[in-house]
Amino acid sequence: LPAVFEPARPILQRIEQAGYEAYFVGGCVRDTILGDPIHDIDIATSAYPAEIKQIFNRTVDTGIEHGTVMILDHGVGYETTTFRTESGYQDFRRPDSVTFVRSLAEDLKRRDFTINALALKENGEVIDLFDGLGDLKRHLIKAVGKPAERFHEDALRMMRAVRFASKLNFKIDEPTKQGIKDNAPLLEKIAVERIRVEFEKLLLGQNPVAGLTDLIETDLYRYCPKLADQKTALDQLLDLKPWQLKTEAEAWAVLMMVMQLDHAQRNAFLKAWKTSNDLIGAVQKIVLAANAILNDQLTPAILFATGEKLLISANRVAALFGQSQEELDLRDRYQALPIKNAKELAVNGGQLIKLAHVKPGPKMGRILHQLQQQVLDRKLPNDQNALLAAAAQLAKEDGNEN
Ligand code: ATP
Ligand code: MG
Repeated sequence: LPAVFEPARPILQRIEQAGYEAYFVGGCVRDTILGDPIHDIDIATSAYPAEIKQIFNRTVDTGIEHGTVMILDHGVGYETTTFRTESGYQDFRRPDSVTFVRSLAEDLKRRDFTINALALKENGEVIDLFDGLGDLKRHLIKAVGKPAERFHEDALRMMRAVRFASKLNFKIDEPTKQGIKDNAPLLEKIAVERIRVEFEKLLLGQNPVAGLTDLIETDLYRYCPKLADQKTALDQLLDLKPWQLKTEAEAWAVLMMVMQLDHAQRNAFLKAWKTSNDLIGAVQKIVLAANAILNDQLTPAILFATGEKLLISANRVAALFGQSQEELDLRDRYQALPIKNAKELAVNGGQLIKLAHVKPGPKMGRILHQLQQQVLDRKLPNDQNALLAAAAQLAKEDGNEN
């Protein structure tokens, strides 16, 4: 048994001692055989959720209705899912119901790709019913069973195929790829959030260009939110320097750069993908800063507004478009700013009211903004008296009452 599974071995043993079968399954088995690090260990078992809960003291109901119970052991959680088949794929997405079964083979059959249908026994034996090991060697993503049928059952699998192509730097087996081409429109039935998860993993994978090439060649992109008419932009992604991005916000920013959208269009695009407002904010900042880096227009105001973390992201994005700065220089420039957030300004609104007799309202906001700008540009020191004097002056110049 590979060493990473050693701490989890007693879990399988305890389930087996209770008279059930249990295996490590899915991504953890695949990645270990590939020699890649794993992020979590999933277990498949013939025991029903209630039976698992009788064996272990500490469990969490993470998805009982799908057969999943999390077993807690030494601070680690193990998702443990009862063998199941899925029936009644009426609408090209998740099955209407799951049926628990007692056979591993039935469970492996419903999995998406041969490389994801491997099971690992407590004694180290690999159960490989669909030549997943062969496909791992050949670097192939191949549907379990007939591709068209499998994509009809669950159209998200098509998106998963292209994301694994990127994540693992594998090729999609020809019949599986043909199955995607033939069924790509079914992707429209899938919830945007689920498509997004796979798309983000594609963009952050080992070989995003491979995944994107498949996305384009299979026509899948045409059924992704707001990408149908973006073939030219997507093609440009294929011509960038080889990329390796670190965050989702960077990935979306790269896409925004080739699509050349304005601020409002970027907002609408990301909303269509149902991303969070936090992510939208980060992407907007990265795009702005990346463009500034590319145009040699990185001002103190942009450094300030972007923040150190997103500046580094922006720099990684700019690098793909041919220009970037030394990361250390950029950090130094940021660290050298006289203030790093609005709170560090030596006066606040309350003090402006009390000490500089500015009335609360939009006018005060304008004055604060100008003070901040002048401090950033080192036209004013970040000193309370200097700022109060400047504020009084600005209040006079700003003729408006409010
Ligand atoms: P990752 O390392 O990216 O998490 P993973 O293989 O663990 O990869 P998950 O999405 O976590 O992927 O799914 C776990 C396992 O469940 C897969 O390996 C596969 O066997 C099965 N699976 C997940 N989604 C589907 C699906 N839509 N159809 C069939 N099987 C699936
Ligand atoms: Mg996983």
